[in-house]
Amino acid sequence: MNNRKTNIQRASSEFFDIVVIGGGITGAGIALMAAKKGWKTLIVDKHDFAFGTSSRSAKMIHGGLRYLQNLQIKLVKEALHEREHLLKEYPHLVKPQPFFMPIYKSKLNKLKLGIGLSGYDYLTGESSMPKHEAIKVDKIKERFPQIKSDNIVGGYIYYDAKTNDARLTNDIIQEAVDLGAVSINYFEVENIICKDNIVNEIICTDNISKIKYNIQAKVYIAATGIWTDDTMKLLHNNSSEQFMMPSKGIHLIVDASHFPKDCVMLLPTANNDGRMIWCMPWDDNLSVVGTTDTEYNGSNEEMTVLKEEVNYILDSVNAQLKDKKLTHGDILSVYAGIRPLLNEKTNNNKSTKRSRDYKIWWNNDNMLTISGGKLTSFLSMAEKVIEEIEQKHSLETSMNNSIKINSIIDKFKHRYGIKNASLIADIAQENIQFIDTFDNYNYCTAEILFFIRHQHAQKIDDILTRRTLISYQMKNYDTLLIQNISDILAKELNWSNEDKQMDIENYKKSWMLMHSWL
Ligand SMILES: Cc1cc2nc3c(=O)[nH]c(=O)nc-3n(C[C@H](O)[C@H](O)[C@H](O)COP(=O)(O)OP(=O)(O)OC[C@H]3O[C@@H](n4cnc5c(N)ncnc54)[C@H](O)[C@@H]3O)c2cc1C
Repeated sequence: MNNRKTNIQRASSEFFDIVVIGGGITGAGIALMAAKKGWKTLIVDKHDFAFGTSSRSAKMIHGGLRYLQNLQIKLVKEALHEREHLLKEYPHLVKPQPFFMPIYKSKLNKLKLGIGLSGYDYLTGESSMPKHEAIKVDKIKERFPQIKSDNIVGGYIYYDAKTNDARLTNDIIQEAVDLGAVSINYFEVENIICKDNIVNEIICTDNISKIKYNIQAKVYIAATGIWTDDTMKLLHNNSSEQFMMPSKGIHLIVDASHFPKDCVMLLPTANNDGRMIWCMPWDDNLSVVGTTDTEYNGSNEEMTVLKEEVNYILDSVNAQLKDKKLTHGDILSVYAGIRPLLNEKTNNNKSTKRSRDYKIWWNNDNMLTISGGKLTSFLSMAEKVIEEIEQKHSLETSMNNSIKINSIIDKFKHRYGIKNASLIADIAQENIQFIDTFDNYNYCTAEILFFIRHQHAQKIDDILTRRTLISYQMKNYDTLLIQNISDILAKELNWSNEDKQMDIENYKKSWMLMHSWL
């Protein structure tokens, strides 16, 4: 249970290894990795978690086919690797998604695009998703009847993934909390107190009660995205240096019935600026249509959507739709997001061309800032931050133990999910031999204890037939194993020798029934 009052009390009275400022996806990933290391971690956000850009993205977990054009090979490769990892680790939130890219006469060069997609497949390496394929005009007409096909000379289907960005961020924070991190939203860092090139403490205001608190840690990490310049002002006494050069992107939400429900459609923009608009099925009955990419220097707190931005998207989509055009009346809602793009002198000034890469830098001896990047790359960004910290600070207190806990969680999470794998790891702390697997069966004592303590197992049969598959695998009655399981149950449930004998007899009957055909 996540109790806000207790969390605030802990935050203001305990000394942390790491404080992460900013609970968007970047901060969430760092909090998770730090908690996995066994570091005592606090993550705070001045708004709700994921209030910022991390709930306002295009919801794609992708390598970024478009960035290949700008030859950002490293960025694309890293993101594709992340995509594969997230598909595997968070299948309830990151799902495979086919994309349809039409090729128009005289617009996109088919050969160039084919080469780009082959490069994309190559950079992906081993994948659970199919490679790209060409699709012919007659198939396009059949599969995408809503779009005009007179100018289309062919197309491609390729695969990326989609997510619910806000839920992903909150799930990652929950995972960090399950591993011991403390998390508080509506908790704003308002002052950063430094002495002799180190941060001594930060002053936070609880934006709900308006009470101020002093927070202390060994290392502070700013992951405040588009607020990075504001955070730097807190640190450097209102410095006017501009670290960020953000750009704005808006999306429209419409009913899913307007577009294909199984495939994203990419359509060229009406004003020939070389960009594409995507219409993506989202959450069963919605479609997300976007986006724009324009310079932004407005408020980070209230991001409004302008009529001309909406019209840019509607005009682009309607130029390609056959009959049923999209109108203002079809729009269920709109949202605007601000990309945390870095202000790098070497970067192209046009926001569409500016790098989606990220940067990590030390502000002083114990405060580090990360900014830029993509939703897709949050775990590898977090890994880099952890590496940086390890090079400069030794936060070893609970690390050896935590590495052990981590590898146990990794071992069991596929069978039981993260939460239960953590419970099994806790049990293994009592005696590390509890994770040694039994002869001939891929189960261990820690799992048996987990079934007894957390999943109601009361008898050998409960464990071997309904909590594990051991009864199904046991061709010959395994006296030794049965005795072992009975000993564990007896100790946990205070059985007498008679209780043990009776339960073994009962299990034997159950096992015989499973072999009664012999
Ligand atoms: C239109 C658009 C489309 C995009 N599409 C994609 C996409 O499809 N795929 C993809 O991979 N990426 C995409 N991105 C990029 C991606 O969304 C961002 O890179 C990512 O969400 C940034 O996360 P963040 O945690 O760095 O920033 P944020 O999510 O903005 O988090 C920063 C947090 O810091 C908090 N904060 C600020 N100041 C303080 C303070 N003083 N005290 C406490 N907390 C503070 C804020 O409240 C905020 O929650 C898109 C971005 C945009 C704008």
